[in-house]
Amino acid sequence: MKHTKFLDWDHYAKLAVDRSNAATQAGHPEWIDLPSSRPEAEQQSKKAYFTGHECKHGHIAPRGGNKGCAGCYAERYHAI
Ligand SMILES: [Zn+2]
Repeated sequence: MKHTKFLDWDHYAKLAVDRSNAATQAGHPEWIDLPSSRPEAEQQSKKAYFTGHECKHGHIAPRGGNKGCAGCYAERYHAI
């Protein structure tokens, strides 16, 4: 008997919970409504998506097309 499918669903369910917790903790529960990955964003013709994971600089923020992480973008902008 294989349990691969069940484990897959469990895995995705956990990811969804982590993502919604991350958005809520960041104070932006509306980020949950964004696509969760770049391919998903492209499919929906949207520019921004929210993975729920930290970028390499520790931001929990949406990412979009050529801007990358919104937190990094904001820091760059304010640093000029
Ligand atoms: Zn960042």
